[in-house]
Amino acid sequence: MAGSEDVPLSSSTGGFEGAQEHLSHEVVVIGGGLAGLRAALAASEAGADVAIVTKVQPLRSHSVAAQGGINAALREDDSVESHAFDTVKGSDYLADQDAVLVLTGEAPDRVREMEHWGTVFSRSEDGRIAQRPFGGAGYPRTAYAQDRTGHNLLHTLYETALREGVRVYDEFFVTKLVVSGGQCSGLIALDVKEGELHSIQARSVVIATGGYGRVFARSTNAVINNGDGAALAYRVGVPLEDMEFIQFHPTTLYGTNILMSEGVRGEGGYLVNSEGERFMERYAAKAMELAPRDIVARSIQTEVNEGRGIDGQPYVHLDITHLGADRIKERLPGIREICIHFAGLDPIERPIPVQPGQHYSMGGVACDVDGATEVAGLFAAGEAACVSVHGANRLGGNSLLETLVFGRRAGFAAAAHAEAAPEPREAELEAALREEVARINEILSRDSPIRAGVLKEEMRELMFHHFGIFRDGPTMEEGLVKLRELRSRMAEAGVDYHGRVYNQALIGYLEVEFMFQLAEIIAISSMAREESRGSHYRLDFTERDDDTWLVHTMAYQTTDGPKLEYVPPTLGTFEVKERVY
Ligand SMILES: Cc1cc2nc3c(=O)[nH]c(=O)nc-3n(C[C@H](O)[C@H](O)[C@H](O)COP(=O)(O)OP(=O)(O)OC[C@H]3O[C@@H](n4cnc5c(N)ncnc54)[C@H](O)[C@@H]3O)c2cc1C
Repeated sequence: MAGSEDVPLSSSTGGFEGAQEHLSHEVVVIGGGLAGLRAALAASEAGADVAIVTKVQPLRSHSVAAQGGINAALREDDSVESHAFDTVKGSDYLADQDAVLVLTGEAPDRVREMEHWGTVFSRSEDGRIAQRPFGGAGYPRTAYAQDRTGHNLLHTLYETALREGVRVYDEFFVTKLVVSGGQCSGLIALDVKEGELHSIQARSVVIATGGYGRVFARSTNAVINNGDGAALAYRVGVPLEDMEFIQFHPTTLYGTNILMSEGVRGEGGYLVNSEGERFMERYAAKAMELAPRDIVARSIQTEVNEGRGIDGQPYVHLDITHLGADRIKERLPGIREICIHFAGLDPIERPIPVQPGQHYSMGGVACDVDGATEVAGLFAAGEAACVSVHGANRLGGNSLLETLVFGRRAGFAAAAHAEAAPEPREAELEAALREEVARINEILSRDSPIRAGVLKEEMRELMFHHFGIFRDGPTMEEGLVKLRELRSRMAEAGVDYHGRVYNQALIGYLEVEFMFQLAEIIAISSMAREESRGSHYRLDFTERDDDTWLVHTMAYQTTDGPKLEYVPPTLGTFEVKERVY
């Protein structure tokens, strides 16, 4: 690339231009989902001038889709220690135990705070917040708003953020972080509506961009969940942690992979195979359908692989007909609607066909309990981050909780950092803006029939089949070769639309670039880990190996591709044991 001063801010060929307007805030949060909104509210409460930059309007963030609920020890006969123990055991002992205690310790306050701000939680007979059983939990501690918990929480936080005067840049797509002298000084974002690139100066930046589920086919995630923030952080030298741990949810609607919440089993749903058996008895005799997700997903896949899928098809039945119409209508109205509209069946009368699908990203931007990363002024929170509280397998209901607990902490830490940080140097942002203008106009100038969207679909299928629920060395090696071949074609891919306003073709291209980067890290991290732990199950190394592999994977960017390092998790409160349910 030419020296940045040689590149004009505007293009005579009608391409993208750099905006002249100078945008600056003390704290900038990337992402308007639950983690981003909670971080922005905390930073604002701490007195910082804060703005949210988000590629979709905040209420379209994926948090809105969360169904089943949020965990907190709210009752006298439950405790934050039991919640922590369940979380650590569920993580297959890879979670950092100090971070888990922060998560569970702050949970009751965060849930009650949401209720005070306006979230309408479902109630139990005694008038208190109702809680349902969830997988891997020794107590029914998942608070919920019917089966639309994320919708309720997100609307509450968005209204609160508007009330507090948090500035929101809607439909601004972040393409690059700017780091100079080891300090994050802002970012470059494309205003999708206007087709202009902006530099936004900031003393602290919080990455709250959600997960990278769409790297896999059969995902319950929205099309916007491409892992942009993880890739952005990786490119400025921050390690990505535990990227091999991908959660496959046991119950997604066959054919569409829309989530059938764990709340369905929490309310008493059965899993049944072609022989009419409640087969979970074979895999988790005590917990049955409410074993942790990694175990239930593998059990369903085993039933299918061994020929006990319904009518020889790759699905089993999730049966709630015995719950009765009243309970289904009261507790699971959203699930019923989805089944009626997308599968043409009413679960009051007929069982739901389900299969496992990609659902959650346990790995992400390595950070501490205050969201701080290895780059000063750069923080992370929510599904984009790896604190790590989920280790090798997340328990249902702990992710919504993570967004609130660690979003808030990251917001406060970002505000404190901003107060003490030096004024960012404008020249570096200006140079980065010029480079991004040039990079994007080069992509638009390509005359090529290759399309990123086509390569993406091939990549997603490949990732599901080569790095899926069951893994083994040769299959993964073959997958990595194919992945690299596909990725090499991205350098030539062009876009169909060259206009500046709402250029979704360009956004799509940039997202796919992020996704390929993450896919390679997932592949290499998975191949290196020669054991089975949580969601990472290898047919060629079926045992957990604590002597060698009770470690977090840290992937760093180098010119030769990802370099892996390993660090031990924080232990000390709960003894590492075999996981039996
Ligand atoms: C169907 C479904 C149901 C779920 N149900 C539950 C549940 O019941 N309980 C539970 O605990 N967990 C649940 N989860 C998980 C949980 O919902 C998510 O982990 C959580 O909501 C993620 O929140 P977040 O704020 O980190 O990210 P998101 O809500 O995904 O928000 C990401 C934000 O980042 C922005 N963004 C991304 N990239 C860019 C970019 N390049 N530039 C600018 N902005 C960008 C987006 O615009 C968006 O605003 C569920 C997940 C799914 C898929």
